[in-house]
Amino acid sequence: MTSSKHKDVIVIGGGLIGCSVALRLAQAGLRVTVLERGTPGAEASSAAAGMLSPQSEILESGPFFDLCMASRRMYPKFAREVENLSGLKVDYRRDGTLLVATSQQEWHELETAYRAQKRMGLSITQLSGKAVHALTAGLSSQIDYGLLVPGDHSIDNEKLSAAVALACARMGVEIRTETSAIRFILKNHRVDRVRATCESGRSGEIFAGHYVLAAGCWSATLAEPLGIKLSMTPCHGQMMEFESPRPLPLVVRAGHAYLVPRSDRRIVVGTTSEYIGFEKAVTGEGLRSMLDGAVRILPGFKSFKFLRAWSGLRPDTADHLPILGGGEISNLIFATGHFRNGILLAPVTAEIVSALIVKGSTVRAIEPYRPARFAD
Ligand SMILES: Cc1cc2nc3c(=O)[nH]c(=O)nc-3n(C[C@H](O)[C@H](O)[C@H](O)COP(=O)(O)OP(=O)(O)OC[C@H]3O[C@@H](n4cnc5c(N)ncnc54)[C@H](O)[C@@H]3O)c2cc1C
Repeated sequence: MTSSKHKDVIVIGGGLIGCSVALRLAQAGLRVTVLERGTPGAEASSAAAGMLSPQSEILESGPFFDLCMASRRMYPKFAREVENLSGLKVDYRRDGTLLVATSQQEWHELETAYRAQKRMGLSITQLSGKAVHALTAGLSSQIDYGLLVPGDHSIDNEKLSAAVALACARMGVEIRTETSAIRFILKNHRVDRVRATCESGRSGEIFAGHYVLAAGCWSATLAEPLGIKLSMTPCHGQMMEFESPRPLPLVVRAGHAYLVPRSDRRIVVGTTSEYIGFEKAVTGEGLRSMLDGAVRILPGFKSFKFLRAWSGLRPDTADHLPILGGGEISNLIFATGHFRNGILLAPVTAEIVSALIVKGSTVRAIEPYRPARFAD
């Protein structure tokens, strides 16, 4: 399987991050190959809920919050561009997110978030119980307070992942599915080539000028033999999907529980967070806790039609921040460790990585995300 044609960039991992990076690089005129162990987008990128919600998720100000907000601002254009290039719809919804309190503690958390975000000048509105119920029918009668975050949107990440992969192919990116990168081979402190095997068991070496490591939770395994410690851990998350008698008008969250609307009156329910290695089982306890959370918000869930359940692995890091940029090996760029926000962060990550490869620098402040920080 040795490639005779020299590529400009090889991207390891065909999740949303790897494919978004590949798309930007191809648009910049580079010849790009993506090596994907299975099917593009089939891991965390399809398992996610698709919330694009820095305000509802990350309640503290700082550089990471700013990065998330920057990516959120890029989404309308990104979604439109991917739809145009692929011809596929990605169900990007701009109806906002409703945060509700189902307990005294959640009420306090919302109050604190509201005050902090108002001080930051962000758009967020306090709603009375009456206003909350007027916005979303069927909510629990226990809910008498909420916050509306109009800028926190959602997208069908499964459709988006497929659309970005198709957009890549249409832009000339070569996507090698069922192909695993085994190891990088160095020469003069640069990656010279990557060894890979394909489904048939055949192995070979592939060459390029630049390499991008975007293998999600599995990135550390490829970095370690190079002496680069990434301190990554998979964070197992379970999800369920129901069909509701009427469409949910917007994302609704209460504490760790959330309901995300999809097309065809489907509602995605999340989630759990467990550190149990690379295990991906869906468990009875996981299903019970998610259903409890959903019923606390919308009691009608007890009779909604159950469609499916699944799980995925969030690529978490020791400080919960992504790993972006290069290090001592000048032609190896990292784009991984996006933990709970990789769908949100795809456009800004693609912009950063393509700028680093095409121009040699990025205007974004990526120092907090440098791969070498775990060795310090
Ligand atoms: C339950 C759950 C809910 C989530 N909800 C949200 C949300 O609402 N909003 C949000 O922004 N984020 C969310 N996330 C996080 C988000 O899904 C991830 O951060 C994001 O998908 C990471 O994308 P990725 O491309 O880095 O990883 P992945 O999608 O995991 O892709 C990595 C790819 O690399 C491939 N690969 C691995 N090793 C190799 C190798 N050696 N050779 C070749 N290919 C390889 C894998 O097969 C895989 O396809 C959620 C995650 C989960 C699990």
